[in-house]
Amino acid sequence: MDEIEKLLPGYNCGSCGHRQCRDFVAEIKNAEDLQKCPFLSRDNFQDNVKKILRLLGEDIPEDEKVVGIIDGLEADFMLAPLKDECSCREFIHPFDGSIEINVGDYLRYRPLACPVTHFAKVIDIDPGIYTIHLVGPLHRLGQEDFEFKDVGLCMILAFEGKISKGKLPKVGQTVKFVPEYCMMQKVHSGMVVGVEGRSVRIEAIDLKVW
Ligand code: SF4
Repeated sequence: MDEIEKLLPGYNCGSCGHRQCRDFVAEIKNAEDLQKCPFLSRDNFQDNVKKILRLLGEDIPEDEKVVGIIDGLEADFMLAPLKDECSCREFIHPFDGSIEINVGDYLRYRPLACPVTHFAKVIDIDPGIYTIHLVGPLHRLGQEDFEFKDVGLCMILAFEGKISKGKLPKVGQTVKFVPEYCMMQKVHSGMVVGVEGRSVRIEAIDLKVW
């Protein structure tokens, strides 16, 4: 307990719901709980976050190498789903803007620069950008009630997920990563724009890893 307290910011600002950092300690059980303190997502506290995770037994196995199967490239980390979700989140933009897409729709699409057809469920919409969970291609196929909209080629704008293996990145870092569900286990690249505990958002996605 004392060790964790020393690693908190010490600003006693109350944002986590406690008047003092000391009182927040009892509430910290896992990486998600750390998100209640806004300062712990800042770059200068990332070493402290790692130490707290280690003390909680939630350490990420950094020594295990993450290597893409199809390309043999070494990645910085493996991206798993966020808590209670079925896949990590992708944010996609279909080039064909004429198709009406609603939350709950199933889509068939092919990411730009990927040869594999994907199936996904839409979970949120911003103008022109659809947040999806991957549901295929394998396990939904063959079901009679499986209706989908074919949206064709899509640009992949971002990923959100939780790091299950590898190194915890910093905001602004260009990274190589493998989404756990990727059928080809191919290394993707992008820039980290948000880190909260082990949860990350990666934008500027590129499959032509340099
Ligand atoms: S939000 Fe962070 S800095 Fe503020 S009181 Fe809670 S633990 Fe301390």
